[in-house]
Amino acid sequence: MPSKEGHHYIGGAWVSDAPNGMNPVQNPSDGSVFAEAPNGSAELAGQAVMAARDAFETTDWASSPRLRAAALLEFAEVLESRADEIADLMAKENGKVRGQARHELAAGYGEARYYAGVARNVFGRTFESAPGKMSLMTREASGVASVIVPWNAPVTLLVRSAAPALAAGCTVITKPASQTPLTNAAVMACFESVESLPKGVVNSVNEYGTEVGTVLSTHPEIDVISFTGSSRTGRIIMANAADTIKHVSLELGGKAPALVFDGADLDGAVTEIKRGSLALNGQMCTCISRVLVQDTIYDEVKARLRVAYETTTTGDARAEGVELGPVIDKPSQQRLLGIVDRAGVEASLVVRGKAGGDELSDGFFITPSMFEIDDVSHDLVQDELFGPIVSLERFSDESEAVSKANATRFGLAASVYTNDLNVSMRMARKLRFGTVWLNSHNRLFAEVETGGYRESGIGRLHGIEAMNDFLETKHIYYEVED
Ligand code: NAD
Repeated sequence: MPSKEGHHYIGGAWVSDAPNGMNPVQNPSDGSVFAEAPNGSAELAGQAVMAARDAFETTDWASSPRLRAAALLEFAEVLESRADEIADLMAKENGKVRGQARHELAAGYGEARYYAGVARNVFGRTFESAPGKMSLMTREASGVASVIVPWNAPVTLLVRSAAPALAAGCTVITKPASQTPLTNAAVMACFESVESLPKGVVNSVNEYGTEVGTVLSTHPEIDVISFTGSSRTGRIIMANAADTIKHVSLELGGKAPALVFDGADLDGAVTEIKRGSLALNGQMCTCISRVLVQDTIYDEVKARLRVAYETTTTGDARAEGVELGPVIDKPSQQRLLGIVDRAGVEASLVVRGKAGGDELSDGFFITPSMFEIDDVSHDLVQDELFGPIVSLERFSDESEAVSKANATRFGLAASVYTNDLNVSMRMARKLRFGTVWLNSHNRLFAEVETGGYRESGIGRLHGIEAMNDFLETKHIYYEVED
């Protein structure tokens, strides 16, 4: 059997060509390079696009919802049967602690099962505008979809885009981030095991750089792009897509605030804020990065969060009982340590994050930080820091809470902590974010749409609305003869 270690997967075959050399794959917990993956090229990306186009045009895939449902169910079975192995590989490759990695796999196969059901429920509509004048609105697969994903959740983010694309009848080319080619290839191997999946329906090309990504956002045979990543790259993808007017779905950056009101259950709020801010070490788009607290309980919340962050256990992502693994790489660790230093000068540090001690010194660790600040325009409050660093801000009433929380160019997610249902509902309606959780954070479901306002993106993934990105509506008109 050919090695699947980070290879490309094109037209149902593993391809080990490395026209742009090999990409070292690092374990962020100890800094070791434990594998290398071949870098693709524009030419390989073009081959993958044409394999996907060919599968779309020549197989029954686009016109067989039952085939698509069966293939997605089979994929879910295989992914579940390999979940422990893939979770372990992911923990090694991107530093996600074991429990969170296992949870990600469960979300991945759960999502595939959900879209298997949706595949059999894509209906059109009919309309008779005058006697015998029949309009038939059908829903058809858009065609070939490219799916470009980041490293922080290489299984769920891939399945979150690919499953609705496949359910709609599209064929797919994916591009993983350079940090996670092995986890991506492990998911491709699950697709390879699905006997009912026609060859070429799912393809994948790796790279370190932007050559493949550029092809996947410009190639004339691609109809739709589903991109998850930073707002900065989202802008480039949108510009690339403009020339051939591709449909674009963008799931981009975030800067989630948590708003804590007087009277909230503080035990519950602090537990949620700690978990919601430290998931994958703060490297999740929906992670809490701002904590806004009503002034009457400010000191109490500050003291509790200080203890919560100072007692967080840090260590190898694959070790039992570790709450916080490493960040993705050395440049990220150094960038975050620099931010902590700046926060110590330009704001007021409550908890100072540090690199790992002696036994962790080879890995890219940084412990949690919290700083107080009273300037919403400061870039420490405005920018996505993407690490275990939160700002602590103060508000006096609901109106100030709303204006401070909304003072951001992002609009992905927020959470509100209060025991007053009227306060929570008023906040939920006024906050300009795609998701508002009440007394909880980071609860994501396959059935429920997720996405962002403003610079956090365009469109929605998860749920039934995700299908919109991968379907066209066609009007067929007929006049019935008497
Ligand atoms: P990134 O934008 O640098 O990379 C994401 C993907 O885009 C990678 O596969 C990368 O190789 C590729 N890419 C980079 N330049 C490209 C180009 N010019 N053309 C085509 N593809 C290109 O993001 P990152 O730093 O790896 O990931 C973190 C970011 O992703 C954060 O901003 C985070 O908030 C965001 N994110 C958003 C969501 C969401 O659901 N909204 C989920 C996860 C991560």
